[in-house]
Amino acid sequence: MFRIGQGFDLHRLETGRPLMLGGLEIPFDKGPLGHSDGDVVLHALTDALLGAAGLGDIGEWFPPSDPQWAGADSAKLLATVMSRLKADGWQIENADITILLEAPKLSPYKGALKARIAELLEITPDQVSVKAKTMEGLGAIGRSDALAAMVNTLLSK
Ligand code: MG
Repeated sequence: MFRIGQGFDLHRLETGRPLMLGGLEIPFDKGPLGHSDGDVVLHALTDALLGAAGLGDIGEWFPPSDPQWAGADSAKLLATVMSRLKADGWQIENADITILLEAPKLSPYKGALKARIAELLEITPDQVSVKAKTMEGLGAIGRSDALAAMVNTLLSK
């Protein structure tokens, strides 16, 4: 049996915050504002996995109103969901990730991002795709006031 999932996330960017992306800190003068570390890639990925498994969404699992998730490491949230997927017998076939941001250029980090995301998903880097798009200077993302990620995943069992 196969199940496909999709996830989307967006956070505001603010000067002086660490840019956490796919479980890595990328050097940049701005980072996401958020209740947790604001990692849009891991949030969209977690939502895609939950969606594929029909298990609700990240807000239900880790409510922003709950102080225990303040400043949370998104890799830990993902690990919690991974435990449930494993308990339910799901395997991850692939994750296809598109990151929307104006700067910095992600090409130097794509290999490291794939490796880190594969490690978190307990799959191999060839099962992970990381793509980056700018918004051609348009809108909130184009002004570097925000960044976003879209993720599709395929589960099997
Ligand atoms: Mg988020």
